Amino acid sequence: MSTENDSLGALTKHTLPELPYGYDALEPFLDKETMELHHSKHHQGYVNGLNGAEAALAKARANGDFGLIQHLSRQLAFHFGGHYLHSMFWATMAPNGSGGGGEPTGALADKINEDFGGFEAFQNQFSAAAGAVEGSGWGLLHYRPVDNRLIICQAENQHKVAQWGATPILGVDVWEHAYYLKYQNRRPEYIKAWWNVVNWSAVADRLKSAQG
Ligand code: MN
Repeated sequence: MSTENDSLGALTKHTLPELPYGYDALEPFLDKETMELHHSKHHQGYVNGLNGAEAALAKARANGDFGLIQHLSRQLAFHFGGHYLHSMFWATMAPNGSGGGGEPTGALADKINEDFGGFEAFQNQFSAAAGAVEGSGWGLLHYRPVDNRLIICQAENQHKVAQWGATPILGVDVWEHAYYLKYQNRRPEYIKAWWNVVNWSAVADRLKSAQG
């Protein structure tokens, strides 16, 4: 068998995106040590896991051996979920006062008012949803095209309780690795601090692109 037949199908080489700011740029809200570990170790781990799962699936196709299909399908969902959500997480934050914090403006602000009855009501629901995620997971804002509205969701881990057909445009990571060094068990305090580094202009761009 030639090396070309070791796997079937083209593979994407997923890579860790660079942060658009330094590890200490979101201080004092998100501390440097947590940011560095979170990006360079945790996110890198999901990238590696995703590449590994896709390579193993290609090999399974080549061998016609699907004995591990359940395991590999789970690995694919878990690691892609991690890669996708963390990539969005970094891209929708910015240093406080330099693009981060404050309130949304323009079309995003209008949509939030329309769908949630006001920014404060939106923020309260989002913080409550993120705070109440059981164990590891995410609080997420999705755009749902079927009825053209924004919805607030929870994700368990990074791949369960998915909302089909809806696009995440903002998310807060509430795994303990995202806050435990600085906030220990005080997740609500971390979520409250995180609002200070949300990059609303990046979220508005994501909404615009999801609306097509
Ligand atoms: Mn994380």
